[in-house]
Amino acid sequence: MTDALDDPEAAAAALVAALRRARRTLVLTGAGVSTASGIPDFRGPSGLWADLDPREVGHIDAFRRDPARVWAFYARRIAVVREARPNPAHLALAALERAGIVGRVVTQNVDGLHRAAGSAAIEVHGRLDVAECLGCGARIEGAELDERLRAGGGVPRCACGRALKPGVVLFGELLPAAAIDEAFALAEEADLVLAAGTSLEVHPVASLPSAARARGAHFAIANRGPTALDDVADVRVEAALEEVLPRVAAAFDV
Ligand code: ZN
Repeated sequence: MTDALDDPEAAAAALVAALRRARRTLVLTGAGVSTASGIPDFRGPSGLWADLDPREVGHIDAFRRDPARVWAFYARRIAVVREARPNPAHLALAALERAGIVGRVVTQNVDGLHRAAGSAAIEVHGRLDVAECLGCGARIEGAELDERLRAGGGVPRCACGRALKPGVVLFGELLPAAAIDEAFALAEEADLVLAAGTSLEVHPVASLPSAARARGAHFAIANRGPTALDDVADVRVEAALEEVLPRVAAAFDV
């Protein structure tokens, strides 16, 4: 393990050096990428959800028991995300992806901000702007979800009559198999994994660096605060992502 670099210029230079050596880079992101967009880390100790335990109110059993309570929680998160815009970290990653400097972004975020920035992100924890029916499989999104939330008095209903489920992966649910398979396939091909804004504590995303490292890939971490995998990182950067990643993009003229 190396000491974390906390100066934005030095941090960017270290990431640029790692990217210049790499041919295929897999990017993993988490809540830290979106904090500069005003989206609180709902796992954190403070913020909007301090009064609620997401593992309880965001559990599939809670949804089955009391969808109105679960939707009250998610409607607040949807309202926050609706006002949010991609920040310079999202935009820099999208520019690096378009230029082929990095490959796909695999994100734990459900806010859609990588998508809004133009990244073809794999959203392994689902999407906040979508709702789905566990009965007939229908999916609705965006303005239609807002409309059904209003029409249903806080619980959006499917055309088949059932309560729709938030499009995020709830606690107690499996992650979408196709997205996870794709993420592991990318990890197997990568010669660099860049984990940005994630504390790498939630599996299976936290297992992707190991899958890549087992085949000789380098591993870079850019996060505020420690992560579960600091000990095995080749590069570790502590500076704010919205300051560092635009510098990285600028170094590649993108
Ligand atoms: Zn249905």
